[in-house]
Amino acid sequence: MSTSPSPASVLNFNALFDNPLFAGGIGLASLGAAAAFARKGSIVVLGAARRRLLVNVEISKQDPAYPWILAWLSQPRETPGFIASRLTRIHNLSVATATASRGPGAGGPINAHFFLQPGYGRHIVKFGKAFISVNREKHNTANMNTGEPHEIVQLTTLWAHRHVFEDLFREAHQLAAKANEGKTVVYSARGLEWSPLGDPRKKRPLGSVILDEGIKESIVGDVKDFLTRQQWYVDRGIPYRRGYLLFGPPGSGKSSFIQALAGELDFSVAMINLSEMGMTDDKLAYLLTKLPKRSLLLLEDADAAFVNRRQRDTDGYSGANVTFSGLLNALDGVAAGEERIAFLTTNHIERLDPALIRPGRVDMMLKIGEATKYQATQMWDRFYGDVDQDHSGRARFLERLEELGLFGKYKDGQASNRHTSAAAIQGLFLFNKNDMQGAINMAEGLIPRTFEA
Ligand code: ADP
Repeated sequence: MSTSPSPASVLNFNALFDNPLFAGGIGLASLGAAAAFARKGSIVVLGAARRRLLVNVEISKQDPAYPWILAWLSQPRETPGFIASRLTRIHNLSVATATASRGPGAGGPINAHFFLQPGYGRHIVKFGKAFISVNREKHNTANMNTGEPHEIVQLTTLWAHRHVFEDLFREAHQLAAKANEGKTVVYSARGLEWSPLGDPRKKRPLGSVILDEGIKESIVGDVKDFLTRQQWYVDRGIPYRRGYLLFGPPGSGKSSFIQALAGELDFSVAMINLSEMGMTDDKLAYLLTKLPKRSLLLLEDADAAFVNRRQRDTDGYSGANVTFSGLLNALDGVAAGEERIAFLTTNHIERLDPALIRPGRVDMMLKIGEATKYQATQMWDRFYGDVDQDHSGRARFLERLEELGLFGKYKDGQASNRHTSAAAIQGLFLFNKNDMQGAINMAEGLIPRTFEA
């Protein structure tokens, strides 16, 4: 038996291939298949090559390094050579605007700063000898804490150049640290995250906040002492926490002092206003577990947690939901970071509960009260010290304040119920910047409105 095809079928086959239409079709089909195979093959090979030859680093918006990397990318840098400079110039930029009001409670114009950042999409930058592809992407999903869309920056370079990332991150970090040198970063809670409130502020010198005699020194001494005692706390298994309660009327310098202290210690400030709309026990507890490193926690309006709902309505508090037990839990909670320096401030000490005064919650309580003669003297010297060298102007100013009964008594020793604040004195001096006589003449304006008539 033979397996060879019958002459008739060979004939038919040959006839088929002799047909130019059929042969052309087969040719095209095999070319198409070959191209598809080659394309698939090249994707696989490219994918493999990409995995073997390239290295990726992904940084998400939640990572503290994210803004540093964007700032680093927007730095102008020298790119040697015509082609490299054409290749690595970032053409697609986006603008980030930071605004901040002129200061706590101050109205007036708003400061705005604009930063150019690489826009979304791909860019190429050159760092040392390495070319780095940068891909900034916005995702469709949103961060549940802030409601903002997820964002990432992906950096890709050759495997052989993978070590440049370490240098790049170091440089970006140094750049960020330099931008904050001599500045104090103030964080506030945004949703469930801490984010910088406006630009970092120029460090406020401690000397510019004038509290009554010895108060500033006692707090600064205590905080500095606490900072040297970490081991002492660890050895005894005590959470390494210290709390201060500053109470007194508005405008006495509580917030200014905490900001200046942060500057002195090279700390940032993480600020929460307990009477703020939408602040709840859970949110507070969560935020305290996530405090930014090396920051002083500032809990403003601590009394808000003690005000019952009815009082809240009559006092104009709206929607503040932090309760007393919520505040205590947040301060004591196991999850509340082990290390913490907290400042609580209030204008209404009488509303607080003594349970707050406990080691780790509040270790020191200090009154930052109405301006005293000591403070008025020091403030005068800071403003007019250089033009009032014989102190005669200062003597007249203090005498005038005593005549007006602004230190709680009149010149003749009779009691007065008038007081003024350091903020008001500062305002008077600012108004009469180069005119000390003007400040003396206008001293009557220091009488609080409630005492007029
Ligand atoms: P508080 O937090 O007690 O309400 P702030 O610190 O917000 O007061 O002060 C309001 C303004 O008054 C700031 O501009 C600050 O510079 C000024 N000020 C208040 N108290 C003092 C003080 N003791 N020394 C210097 N400036 C002060």
